Amino acid sequence: MTSHQIRQAFLDFFRSKEHLIVPSAPLVAKNDPTLMFNNSGMAQFKDFFLGNGTPPSRRIADTQKCLRVSGKHNDLEDVGFDTYHHTMFEMLGNWSFGDYFKKEAISWAWELLTEVYKLPKDRLYVSVFEGNEADGVPFDQEAWDLWKGIVGEDRIILGNKKDNFWEMGDTGPCGPCSEIHVDLRTPAEVAEVSGKSLVNNDHPQVVEIWNLVFMQFERKADGSLIPLPSTHVDTGMGFERLCMAIQQKTSNYDTDVFQNTIQVLETLSGKKYGQNDEPFADIAMRVISDHIRAVSFAITDGQLPSNVKAGYVIRRILRRAVRYGYSYLGFQEPFFHKLVPVLAEQFKDVFTELKDQEEFVTRVILEEEKSFLRTLESGLKRLDSITSGLKEKGINTIPGDEVFELSDTFGFPVDLTALIAREKSFQIDETGYQDALAEQKKRSRQDAAKEATDWIELREYDGVEFLGYDFEETHSHIVKYRKVKTKTGEEYHIVLDRTPFYAEMGGQVGDTGVLVLGSSGDAKTVNIVDTKKENDLFVHISRDKNLDEALSGAGIITAKIDIDRRNKIKANHTATHLMLSSMREVLGTHVSQKGSFLNDEVLRFDFAHFSKVTDEELRKIEDRVNEKVRENIALDERRNVPIQQALDAGATATFGEKYGDFVRLIIFDPKFSFELCGGTHVPSTGEIGVFKFISEGSVSAGVRRVEAVTGEKALELMRQQEETLNKIKDLLKGPTDLIKAVESLIDERSTLQKRIAALENEKIQALKTTLVENMETHSTFNLIVQKVDVPSADSLKQLSYELRDQVENLIAVFGAEIGGKPQLSVFIAENLVQETGLNAGKIVKDLAKDIRGGGGGQPFFATAGGSDASGLDTALEKAKGLF
Ligand code: ATP
Ligand code: MG
Repeated sequence: MTSHQIRQAFLDFFRSKEHLIVPSAPLVAKNDPTLMFNNSGMAQFKDFFLGNGTPPSRRIADTQKCLRVSGKHNDLEDVGFDTYHHTMFEMLGNWSFGDYFKKEAISWAWELLTEVYKLPKDRLYVSVFEGNEADGVPFDQEAWDLWKGIVGEDRIILGNKKDNFWEMGDTGPCGPCSEIHVDLRTPAEVAEVSGKSLVNNDHPQVVEIWNLVFMQFERKADGSLIPLPSTHVDTGMGFERLCMAIQQKTSNYDTDVFQNTIQVLETLSGKKYGQNDEPFADIAMRVISDHIRAVSFAITDGQLPSNVKAGYVIRRILRRAVRYGYSYLGFQEPFFHKLVPVLAEQFKDVFTELKDQEEFVTRVILEEEKSFLRTLESGLKRLDSITSGLKEKGINTIPGDEVFELSDTFGFPVDLTALIAREKSFQIDETGYQDALAEQKKRSRQDAAKEATDWIELREYDGVEFLGYDFEETHSHIVKYRKVKTKTGEEYHIVLDRTPFYAEMGGQVGDTGVLVLGSSGDAKTVNIVDTKKENDLFVHISRDKNLDEALSGAGIITAKIDIDRRNKIKANHTATHLMLSSMREVLGTHVSQKGSFLNDEVLRFDFAHFSKVTDEELRKIEDRVNEKVRENIALDERRNVPIQQALDAGATATFGEKYGDFVRLIIFDPKFSFELCGGTHVPSTGEIGVFKFISEGSVSAGVRRVEAVTGEKALELMRQQEETLNKIKDLLKGPTDLIKAVESLIDERSTLQKRIAALENEKIQALKTTLVENMETHSTFNLIVQKVDVPSADSLKQLSYELRDQVENLIAVFGAEIGGKPQLSVFIAENLVQETGLNAGKIVKDLAKDIRGGGGGQPFFATAGGSDASGLDTALEKAKGLF
C-alpha cells in the first residue's frame, strides 16, 4: 500500500463506522493560550471535551498535522538521530464525544490494523493502565478484559501513570490509555529476544503506533479527580510509523513519505542515503527531509520565521536543517528551499494549501537560508576568536556562557559548537551551557507566569451566544468566572451566556466596556478592559478589585461595549478589506494576508509581496480605497453560508485560518471586496471618512507591512503635519516660498562651513610661525611643547604633520581644550623613533593620566583625550622634562 492509500483507508474505515471526516486544523494553534502549535489530533477538539461547545457529530475522524518541538511534547533533539520521531507528523485519529467508549475503540483499532492493513497479529502488543494509588485510580480492568478477549493475556503489558495515563493539562479531562506497539524486527531477532520485553524501551523497531485514550475523569486545580459526566474517546496513530509497519520497513525514512525528498537531496549533494562513511551524513539527510516538512507547513499556515515565540521555533528548526546540510553534506549555498516543490507535489491532494503557496514558501525559506549562512560564517569567526583567546591562556574548555551566546546570537545549535570545538581539540562546558539556558528559560517562564483558580460555575449554559454584530448592549447572565494572577496584578475572567463584546480574533482587538450588575438603585459597574477568546470561550477581562461577591450574586446583568471605540475599530476593519482588494488590483493577485492587527487607532497589515511598495503604488492604492469610501457602498453581510459555496463564489480566505462548515461573508460590492470574515464592519464605507497610509516597510523575507489610519485619526495626522509646517514657516519668518527658503538656508550653511574651514587654516598657519619662532633647539632634536588654541582634534594632527615638513628632528607635544574636553598629541620625527626608541604612543598614555583619560597611536604620532582639562598644564610640564 502507498502512503496515500494508507491514509485513505483509515478515513474510509471510520467513515464506514459513521464518523464525520473533518479537515486538519492548521499547524499553528490559534486562540489557545497553552499551545503554540497543534501537537496532537485532539487539540482542535478541546472545547468539546471541556463542554464549551457542541461537536458537529459525536463521531469524528481525521488526519491532523502535528508539530512536537516545544512545550510538553518536544521531540526535536531525537529527530534524525532516531528513525521514528519527527518534528511534523500526521496523527490519524478517531473520536467519540460522549458516544462509544472502550469496547468499540479497541475492537475497531484491532480490526483496522489486522484486517484492513493486514499487520501480523503476532507482532502487535498492547498496554493497559496498571492504576495509581495516590490518584485513587484503579487498574483499568475494562480495557484488560476487552484486550484479553482479542489478543490474549500474554500480549498485554501493564503501564504506569507516565505512559498510560493521559491528561490534557494541569487541570481538565484525563483518563487511562491503551497503546498499541508493533515489532518490526527480523524473525531471527524475534526468536532471540521477545518483543514484549522491548516495548517502551526505545527500541527503533519496536515502537508505539497508536494510543487510545479513554477520558473519564476531570482533574481539579487542587489535584483531585472527579468522574466526567460523559466519557469520551481520543485516539492518535502516527501516520509515518504506520506506513513503516505496513510497508515493512525498519525506518520511517524508508517509506514513500520521505523517499521523494531524500532522492532530491541525493541529487543535490551527490551522496547516497545509507551509503555514507561519514555517519552524520545520513543523520543530516533525515534531519533535512524531516525539517523541510515542519518549516514549509508552518509557513503555509501563517507562521513565518522570526525572532520571537512560535516564529523563533520555526527559525531554529530551519537553521538546524541548514547547518546539518552545511556541515555534513557540503552545502555552502542555499539548498533547503529547493525541497519545497517536492513536498508541494506530494501533498497536493491532502494538504492543498502548500501547493497554493509554493512560490511564497520557497522564497521565504531562501531568504532565511541566505541570512543564516551569513551568520553561520560570522559565528564560525566568533568561535575562532574564542578558541584562540583560550589557547593563549592554556584553557581547552569553552565556557558555558560563550556556548550560550553562540546559540542565542548566532543561532548556533550547541551540538554544532561542540563538534567544531572537538575539531580544534576543545571541549565545551555543557553544564555551564545548561545553566545559562535554564536561567534564560526561568526568565521567560517568569515573564509568562499566570496562575489561575478553577472556574467558579454559576449556572448551566450551552455555549456563548455572540450578539455583537447586531447589538451594542445585551441582557445576560454570568455563567462562570475565575481569578487569574498575572505579572502585573490580579484579573477576573468572566464568561457570559450572551454578549455583545467582540473577542480578539482575526487581527481585530477585543472590545472594552462595562457590565452593569444589579438594578438601578444599587447597580455596580464592572469595567471590562479586554475580551479574549480561549478556544471557543469568550473571556471578559476585568482588573477591578474584590468582585467575587458581586459576580456570584448577580442575576440578570447588562453588558455594554464602548461604542465610540468599536465604531473606530469597525472603520479600520472595513478599510483593511478595501485596502486588500485595492492592493490586489495595483500590485497583483499574489498579495495575500500574512498578518493583521487593528484597533481603534491604527490598522496594520502584513502581506506577501517581494519588493518595496513604491510611493506611486501606495498613492494608487490610497486613491482607490478613498474612491470606494466616497462611493459609500453598503455592507452586504451574509451569515451561515456553507464554506464550499462561499469559496466557489470567489470569496477571499486567509491561509492558516480555521474555518467552520458555515462561514460569514463580508461583501462591499461583490466585484470589489468579498471576504470570509468574522469581524465587525461599518454599515457603509462612507463611515470610514478618509484612508491614509502612514508607513510601509519589510517584516521578513517576502513579507511587507503597511500601517494606515482612517477617519478622525487621519484628520489628526493631517493637522499635525500642518502644524509642523506652520512652525517651520514661523521660524523662517513666513517666507512666500517655503521650499526655496529651506534650500537657500542649506546653501548658506555650506558656504559658511567653507569659510570657517579657510579661516581655521589661516589661523593654524599663523600659529605655526609663532611655534617655530619659540622652538627649543637642542643638538640632536628640536622641541615644541605648547598649549594651543585649535578648533578640533584633527587640527593637532594637521599642525604636527605640517611642522614635520618644515622642521627637522622635531618633537612636538600639544595640549588643547576642545569643546571643554582636554586633548593631547605627541609627535616624534621618524628618524628619532628609529635611532632612540622613543615611542609617542607610550608617552601619550603616560601623559594622559594627568587629564584623566587614555589614548594611543603609532610610535611617531599618538593622541589622547581626557575628562579633566585642569591637568593639561601639568601634563605639558611633565612632557618638557621627558626630553
Ligand atoms: P513516543 O513515546 O514514541 O514518543 P508518545 O507517547 O509521545 O510516543 P502520543 O502522544 O501517544 O505518543 O501520540 C500518539 C501517536 O503519535 C504515537 O503512538 C505515535 O505513533 C505518534 N507520534 C508521537 N510522537 C511522534 C513523533 N515525534 N513523530 C512521529 N510520530 C509520533
Ligand atoms: Mg513522545
